[in-house]
Amino acid sequence: MPERTLSVAALRTALHCPRQYEFEHVQGLAAEEEPSPAERRCSLLAPAICAGLRSESDFEPEPEPETNTDSDADPDPNPDYLESAIHDELRTRWDDPDRDRDRTEWFHSHAQRDHERRVLEATVRSYVEAVGTAHATGIRTLEDELGSEPVGPGLSLPSSRWRSKRGVTLKATVDYVTLDASTDHLTAVRFVPTTAPLGLLRYRPRWEGDVQACFEDHFDPDEERFEPAVVASLIETAVVLDGLRERRDGWGLADRHCRYVQIPVADRSSTSVNWIRNRVETNIEPVDLTSVYADDHTVAQTFEHRNATVERQIGSVLEALEADGFEPGDRWATIRTHVCADCPYTVCCQDFLAHEVRFDG
Ligand code: SF4
Repeated sequence: MPERTLSVAALRTALHCPRQYEFEHVQGLAAEEEPSPAERRCSLLAPAICAGLRSESDFEPEPEPETNTDSDADPDPNPDYLESAIHDELRTRWDDPDRDRDRTEWFHSHAQRDHERRVLEATVRSYVEAVGTAHATGIRTLEDELGSEPVGPGLSLPSSRWRSKRGVTLKATVDYVTLDASTDHLTAVRFVPTTAPLGLLRYRPRWEGDVQACFEDHFDPDEERFEPAVVASLIETAVVLDGLRERRDGWGLADRHCRYVQIPVADRSSTSVNWIRNRVETNIEPVDLTSVYADDHTVAQTFEHRNATVERQIGSVLEALEADGFEPGDRWATIRTHVCADCPYTVCCQDFLAHEVRFDG
C-alpha cells in the first residue's frame, strides 16, 4: 500500500462532500476562492502573534542595579513587551505594500481602514491579557527544556496512528505549543478566524450527551443529521492530540498530558467602541476542545485524552475514501441542500450538473 499524507483540512472537505475532496485533493484542481474578511484578519494576526512570542522569548531585560535578583532566574514575560512586540510585527505586515494592495479591496474609506487597524490592535491587547502572557511563560519553560521554542505559524503535528492499517499519515497544523502553568499540560494552540464551525462544541462541557449523539448520528445511515463541521473539529482534535503525543514522546516529556485549544482572533461579536475612552475593545475567548472530545471510558482505560469512537470513525472515513470512488451516494440530497451552494466546483461537478440539467417528469 503506497504511503501518503493527508491533512485535517482534506478530511474536513471529504466530510462535507467526497466529490469536492476528489477535485481538490486527488485531481489537484485549486479552487479560486477569495478569503473572507475574517480569514484575512486571522492570516495577519496569527503570524504576527507567533513572531511576537518568539521575539519575547528572546528578550532579556537589563538587570536593574538596585534590585536584588537571582541571576539564574528567568524573569516572567513582560505583558507590555509582548504586546509591543506583537504590535511591531503586525505593523510590519500591515504596512507591507503587497498586502496593502490586496487590502484596498477590503475597505471603502480611510476611516474604515483605521478602524480595522484599531480592532486588530485591540485583539492583540485582549490576547495578551487573556492568555498571551501565560502562554509566553509556558513557551519559555519549554524552550528551557527543549533548547528551542515550538512556535509556528504552521507547526506540523503528524500522527502515524493510521499508517500501519491505512498507509496514511494524518497531519494537523497548529500555531504553537505551550505548557499550561496551572495543569502542567502540553497545550497545542491554533488561531482561527472564529469558533463558529465548532457549533455545539463551544457550549458543551463534555463528550457524553449531546456531542456524542451528534457525532454518532452523523455516521448513522438511519439518521438524517448532517454535521460535517462538528465532526471534522472532533477529528482534528484527535489528530492534533495524537500528533502532539508523538512530539511529546520525542521530546522526552512523556509524563505530560496533551490538550488542544483554538483561539478565535476575528470574531467581531464581542467588539465594541468605547466612545468615552475613544478606544476599541474586544474580548478573546479561547475554546479548549480537549474535554468535549475525550470520552470518560477511554480516558479511564488509557490515562490519555482519547476517544475510541472518534478514532474508530477516522478509520472508516479513510476506508470510505479508498472504496467509494468519491460518490456522494446516499448523502447526495443532503450535500446538494447544504454544501453545493458554496462549492467552487459546481461548473465541473458531474453530480451537480446532472441534477441541474435533468428532465422533469
Ligand atoms: S457541486 Fe456539490 S456535489 Fe459537486 S463537488 Fe461541489 S458540493 Fe460536491
